[in-house]
Amino acid sequence: MKKRLIIVGSGLGGLSLALRASSNDWEVSILERNDTLGGKLNIFEQNGFRFDTGPSLITLPQVFAELFEQCGVEHEHLRFRHLVPLTQYRFANGEQITYPDTLPATAALLERIEADRGRGYWQLMATAAKLFELSSRTFFESVPTEIPSREQVQMLLHSLRWLPLRNAWGNYARTVDRHITSPQLRQIFYRYPTYVGSSPYRAPATLLVIPYLEAAFGGWYVEGGLYRIVETIVAALEQRGVRTYTSAPVTAILHRNGKVEGVRLATGDVLEGDVVVFSGDATTVNALLGMPAQPNKAERSMSGVIYLLGLRRRLPTDVHHHTIAFSSDYRREFDQIFEQRQFPDEPTVYVNVTSKTDPTTAPQGCETVFVMANAPAVEGKRWEQEMSMLWERINGVLERRGITIAESDVVVRSVWTPERFERTYAMPGGAIYGLASHSYRTAFLRPTMRHRRIKGLYFVGGSTHPGGGTPMVILSSKLAYNLILRYEVDS
Ligand SMILES: Cc1cc2nc3c(=O)[nH]c(=O)nc-3n(C[C@H](O)[C@H](O)[C@H](O)COP(=O)(O)OP(=O)(O)OC[C@H]3O[C@@H](n4cnc5c(N)ncnc54)[C@H](O)[C@@H]3O)c2cc1C
Repeated sequence: MKKRLIIVGSGLGGLSLALRASSNDWEVSILERNDTLGGKLNIFEQNGFRFDTGPSLITLPQVFAELFEQCGVEHEHLRFRHLVPLTQYRFANGEQITYPDTLPATAALLERIEADRGRGYWQLMATAAKLFELSSRTFFESVPTEIPSREQVQMLLHSLRWLPLRNAWGNYARTVDRHITSPQLRQIFYRYPTYVGSSPYRAPATLLVIPYLEAAFGGWYVEGGLYRIVETIVAALEQRGVRTYTSAPVTAILHRNGKVEGVRLATGDVLEGDVVVFSGDATTVNALLGMPAQPNKAERSMSGVIYLLGLRRRLPTDVHHHTIAFSSDYRREFDQIFEQRQFPDEPTVYVNVTSKTDPTTAPQGCETVFVMANAPAVEGKRWEQEMSMLWERINGVLERRGITIAESDVVVRSVWTPERFERTYAMPGGAIYGLASHSYRTAFLRPTMRHRRIKGLYFVGGSTHPGGGTPMVILSSKLAYNLILRYEVDS
């Protein structure tokens, strides 16, 4: 008889896990509290405008290809497009830089703006390349809180030779400062820890793998929008007979004598299962288990304020697919987010215009614009009351960096605040990436993937190991599935 696997939540981690398990003879059910599948990787369509409401940038496309190939999913129709140059940065002093670009263009940029003509930059990238190799063999391939297998021990021992790596184990911003001289390139590098919702001034230097992997493997877009990834996975799940339920919030994970038994839905219905995987925020699971809440000591990652704007006019051609309008004082911005827990008075603003490279996402002559600023994740905060202040500050920065969005051109608008993220995805404070990666402990020892006291209960997705971001949650599904095989099938 097939074993029954219940996945609570349909984020990319949960969907990827469903693919792996259903390709291997499990009977899989997915229960999602919202009315669409995909979790934060989601879609909003109105009047011919199509917006990705969450991720807009794909890194490590090989992780996606590996998932599809391992699970026998037909994916040739998914067209990953490599964006070169990737991002245009606009600075407070009026300067503009595109980075990363082709190798010759990046070399010319370093020659122009770096006092040492890029020597420190290449040193930093060489360290980051080794860190990436080390992570690929260890951190991405095993769960730190589990006893490693014989192969994993061998891999770890083999990797010990990387440990003396200079520059890899300090503070992120200070390490950048030691290698990069121009204030502009420093600010570009400082932004990378925000890919996992963290501050460059508090994050460990190991996060240098992020600028490395973006420069080495590129930044990608999926034609038609990133939600095509979810559509492809869901179609494959349907073919395999996976049962997906939307508008199906799970109110309890049932367990008896230290063994999971299934889940209860808000309707009162019970679904029995041999294994349950929770793909929501792992730190909130106790509420579903009927256990006291975990003490809330660790700091949460950032949330965001997002405007999805359909414009009835094109933006000028010098606004790119990805544009960053930087604040004039980055340290102050992160102090306001993480220390004062308030929205920055001058936020850095990210503008993503998919219709610049993919006209299918907007009606003819129009533009699909995603505008985002980082915000603190404060549980229970009523953001809706601050709406006019938020747009005033965001739009003020855009105006000063030469990007004008005329109110009269906006024909579609949907706004996401941390409060809306919290409510929609049940993520405390609207924290997008679970816990902040502000120490080696929170970066490497994230909430465990296997429940310590309840056999058959596992975790997958951005709040657990190895962390947030689309490629990481796919890797998380691989690790979770290996644990399930090890503890539920092999033993
Ligand atoms: C605005 C934004 C921008 C981002 N940008 C990028 C980017 O450019 N590149 C990138 O790689 N990543 C980006 N990310 C991060 C990326 O989207 C996430 O890391 C990833 O999609 C999270 O997947 P997950 O598997 O952790 O599940 P999630 O997406 O967190 O989904 C979990 C699901 O579980 C459901 N759930 C929770 N509790 C219950 C319950 N009790 N019953 C039923 N269902 C439940 C929730 O409703 C949710 O749908 C971004 C995220 C956001 C929000």
